[in-house]
Amino acid sequence: MRRETGRSFSASHSIGILGGGLAGLSLAALLAEAGHAVTLYESGELGGKLGRLEVGGLTFSTGPSLFTFPGVWRRYLAVLGEADGLDLQLLPGGLGLHHTPFGTVPLPPGHPLSGEWDRYVALVRPLRLHIETLLTTPPRLSDPAFLKASAALGRVLGSHLTAERWTDAQRFSPLLAHALKTHALNAGLSPHDAPALYALLPALIADEVSRPAGGMAALLDELIRLCQVRGVRLRPHTPVTGLEGSRATVQLRGETVPHDLIVSALDPARRAGLSGKTIKPQARTVSGMAIYAAFADAVPLPATSIVAPTSFATFRQAMRANALPPDTLALVHAEGRRLALLLTVPATGQRQSLTDVWVRGQVARAEAVLGVPGLLDSALAVHALGPEYYTALGTPGGSIYGAANPFWRAGPFHPQPYRVSKRLWQVGTAVHPGGGIPAILGGALIVARLIQQKGDC
Ligand SMILES: Cc1cc2nc3c(=O)[nH]c(=O)nc-3n(C[C@H](O)[C@H](O)[C@H](O)COP(=O)(O)OP(=O)(O)OC[C@H]3O[C@@H](n4cnc5c(N)ncnc54)[C@H](O)[C@@H]3O)c2cc1C
Repeated sequence: MRRETGRSFSASHSIGILGGGLAGLSLAALLAEAGHAVTLYESGELGGKLGRLEVGGLTFSTGPSLFTFPGVWRRYLAVLGEADGLDLQLLPGGLGLHHTPFGTVPLPPGHPLSGEWDRYVALVRPLRLHIETLLTTPPRLSDPAFLKASAALGRVLGSHLTAERWTDAQRFSPLLAHALKTHALNAGLSPHDAPALYALLPALIADEVSRPAGGMAALLDELIRLCQVRGVRLRPHTPVTGLEGSRATVQLRGETVPHDLIVSALDPARRAGLSGKTIKPQARTVSGMAIYAAFADAVPLPATSIVAPTSFATFRQAMRANALPPDTLALVHAEGRRLALLLTVPATGQRQSLTDVWVRGQVARAEAVLGVPGLLDSALAVHALGPEYYTALGTPGGSIYGAANPFWRAGPFHPQPYRVSKRLWQVGTAVHPGGGIPAILGGALIVARLIQQKGDC
């Protein structure tokens, strides 16, 4: 099912990609499809934050748990001329039950708040295609598609620039407003700091949120396959130890490899470090502590539950001070005998243990709110991945989405620094706004297109 893509320059170039997370892999397939000889260097296993973990005899997918904006995935596949091999299944209950200090609300709802929800959806849902366009189109004022989509988004956002301000301006009930604001965390920021776009997310994604039938790691398998059939040379367990961007040369242990072009799919701070440079330390988006637990019987919880912080102002204050908040956001997924519980923590890189008082307190709080006290203690086996794990993957402090840009420098309107120098480009979580799977795939589409258009590597 492959098709020829138009090429703006005919020669095949040698392109080295640093980092084999979702960003590196998704870009590698696109560049190979365009006819380049692509080599991808990954220091550990392919997949980065998305991987597989055995706990108590059960296999868990680590990292992302919600597949959103499937339209972006379809656009990605269309460029490759591939059919969708993921078999995406809608998640029962959509974005799940949101537990707030004002009560509990499912999103999308089926209860008395439906009227308010319908008003919100009517305002925001027409933007879905425009947001997909913004996620996949180079942010250029000369591009009519970008301009049209930006104008549509601008009309809905008005002068309210942060998620907090936009939500408050809609005069929703405190319950719905609090639930919507939790989704600012998709930017890795509190609603006071996240661009207003993030308050629109629930309306945009709630009816499409899904997961591959084979679990999230099926996305990793599929990206690897898309690379392999295009002849990408995948080199896991091959850390890059140095980088000379101007000469497009990659240093490995005991080997120096010249390329025509390099694309870094690493955090910009790590990439700079490989060139012997440092980047001024920046504020960071949040990190997480992901707890995976296997049980003897099915976990008695809905597919997704969100336990919101009591006060976003207090939460923000703690994150900014790199301190643990009195209560944090807990995202809970239950699937058969598997439970995944993600606690939001500041990106300090500090190891958190399951026996730490704060962790125990947050788990107990989530269990109490969900009506399952002592649940985790009854697990057959538990394993946690925290900020130190994500730091080892290459992002300072283990921040999930890299540096925290202020809202006026974040989001799709801000041109990202895709090209660092003539022969060095970058892609991935810490480069493209938002950083989740849709932004990763969209960023790969954008960078592949820009590289093709520049044609001067
Ligand atoms: C707990 C958690 C939950 C999440 N939930 C969601 C969700 O529900 N939905 C969603 O869309 N997104 C979610 N995300 C975000 C999503 O997982 C990430 O945006 C995405 O996986 C990042 O991909 P990446 O390739 O940019 O970065 P990474 O996965 O970090 O990949 C970077 C790679 O570079 C490698 N590397 C580093 N240094 C070197 C070197 N010197 N040489 C060679 N290789 C190197 C690392 O080993 C790593 O494999 C979540 C993330 C986390 C951590």
